[in-house]
Amino acid sequence: MRMVDLYGQYLSVKDEIDAAMGEVMRDCSFVRGPQTALLEEELAAWTGVGHCVTCGSGTDALLLAMTAIGVGSGDEVIVPAFTFGAVAETVAMRGATPVFADVDPLTFNIDSSSVERLISGRTRAVVAVHMFGQPCDMPPLFELARRHGFVVVEDNAQSLGARCRSESGAMARAGSVGLIGCTSFFPTKVLGCYGDGGAVMTDDGELAQRIRMIANHGQSPKYNYLTVGINSRLDTLQAAVLRVKLRHLHDWIEARIAAAERYDAALKGVAGVECPVRAGGVAHVYHQYTLRVDPSLRDGLRAFLADRGIESMVYYPSLLNDQEAYRDISRCDGDMRGARRLPASVLSLPICSHIGVAAQARVMAAVKEYFGVAEAL
Ligand SMILES: *Cc1c(COP(=O)(O)O)cnc(C)c1O
Repeated sequence: MRMVDLYGQYLSVKDEIDAAMGEVMRDCSFVRGPQTALLEEELAAWTGVGHCVTCGSGTDALLLAMTAIGVGSGDEVIVPAFTFGAVAETVAMRGATPVFADVDPLTFNIDSSSVERLISGRTRAVVAVHMFGQPCDMPPLFELARRHGFVVVEDNAQSLGARCRSESGAMARAGSVGLIGCTSFFPTKVLGCYGDGGAVMTDDGELAQRIRMIANHGQSPKYNYLTVGINSRLDTLQAAVLRVKLRHLHDWIEARIAAAERYDAALKGVAGVECPVRAGGVAHVYHQYTLRVDPSLRDGLRAFLADRGIESMVYYPSLLNDQEAYRDISRCDGDMRGARRLPASVLSLPICSHIGVAAQARVMAAVKEYFGVAEAL
């Protein structure tokens, strides 16, 4: 049993996907085809932002955001220490310094008190990475950004469809509340295509235009280079696939939440494991279902599951501030009290829109067996 059942998901919408891909094959407009612009409109509406610009990957979305807001040499960008490397990489690629903040060990999200300790005269932005499907607590970050004059960028690669508080305090979709929201359509994400893809969201029309220009070699009009850009585009085929999947996304997210609730019901109270915590003021979409396990038992549980044909994953096995690539080019909070123990204790179980109830029951039974909890007959 794999972490996600992408084939099962495909089969459930095969006719729609095949027809949408067939249409692109007939048009042969493989780059910047009509489906790309339609997807951008639909995603903007779905997320509740004025503008969506699709691009080549979630990593590119972050790089485009950093470039568009002018992050460069001498600047600092505060990012969480416990997350995927793309967040730090795109800051460093701009010649700026990634500054690693601690995270809340219960929600896995960036800790605003650590962010506050790290603010300097060079701070240009904070990247709020909404981890595993659950958005960050945004109001304290907005407050710090306002007070110190930097911007809030959201990394929404794991939490499309989740909800959190906007700057006004109202609930809104994650990815719509920062100056820029970045997302990824990597196949296993909440909304995934069949290759690489990503998007940038913003309410600021001028910023959206600038991002679009940077993603297209910095040219406007064609062959008139106004700024240094890159080539980062979403294939028309991927846009066509994503338009089909977007129509089902609400139901698929509901299915993820239902699966998470089944795990919660089965595993709450099992000694040695702690189920994911649902924070107040946000709505979780369970991109991952991540347990915290007694560190002396975590790898044993993983091996026990593997013996029974059940895949599980450690997201993430180390903190970014401990990585070779960032050792000499970053700064970090001296404390890391929240993040320090996570790499040794986290374990993510299979979850997706098409996880079968019976398959999930096997996972729950295996976890309980490992911890010596007898199944009720
Ligand atoms: C997946 C992911 C990315 C990068 O997205 P790609 O499309 O793989 O480039 C960035 N940040 C986070 C938190 C992610 O999970």
